[in-house]
Amino acid sequence: MIRFDDVVKQFGDHVVLDHLDFQVARGDRVTLIGPSGSGKTTILRLLMTLEKVNDGVIWVDGTPLTHEEKGSKLVPASEKYVRRIRRRIGMVFQQFNLFPNMNVIENITEAPIHVLGLDKAVAVQRARELLETVGLSDKETAHPTQLSGGQQQRVAIARALAMDPDILLLDEVTSALDPELVADVLDVLRNVARTTDITMLIVTHEMQFARDVSNRVMMFDAGRIVEEGDPATIFTAPKNERTKTFLKAVL
Ligand code: ADP
Repeated sequence: MIRFDDVVKQFGDHVVLDHLDFQVARGDRVTLIGPSGSGKTTILRLLMTLEKVNDGVIWVDGTPLTHEEKGSKLVPASEKYVRRIRRRIGMVFQQFNLFPNMNVIENITEAPIHVLGLDKAVAVQRARELLETVGLSDKETAHPTQLSGGQQQRVAIARALAMDPDILLLDEVTSALDPELVADVLDVLRNVARTTDITMLIVTHEMQFARDVSNRVMMFDAGRIVEEGDPATIFTAPKNERTKTFLKAVL
């Protein structure tokens, strides 16, 4: 579903991803762990096309995301092409990023109506179902400022799901929340993992959540994967010294 092929990303002289290769199968739930600055968020932002690669190719379901196929050649992708592929990917951010001038139902239906071209009544019906899933049916007409952080984040999850994505990217979605609001958000995501086959890439410090939902963990250090495996093995019997040190600090 996702393939990073020799991907290099740098900011100025700082190489953040250093010839990175990895693949994620359809339906995989992969948690990315590793120290701050190791490149985890950059991977999600590249997939969301919020950043551009310096070198290498990213593939989504057999189609290049960063490039277009012209005959047998790959050429840098046009904006229009990227927008089409990116529709299949949803992202939930640490800071929720809801549209502040729109109420809850408008936040959720904006992209389905204007990007997918769904009929408004159909989009609203689907949004209502999603609001029920995230436990916010009574907040349809609320504005983001009237909601707690946890509620805003659950709206953001519903908004991402409304696009019916093949891939869901979760970037530290509970890091900005007061501790008592974290559990509800994680419960919603556990439910999404249980009831859909969406491929998920998760950056989180919530290690119990990572163990519950992911089938694979990749440990990053300085833009490279230093160890990967199933959560039970990585969390209980890590082999790499850096993984051991990292897990000692966070568990
Ligand atoms: P992580 O998610 O593992 O904490 P990031 O992917 O956020 O790591 O960042 C990796 C490195 O890239 C960090 O050193 C960070 O400072 C740098 N970085 C990220 N975004 C930018 C940017 N827009 N400009 C310059 N440096 C950046």
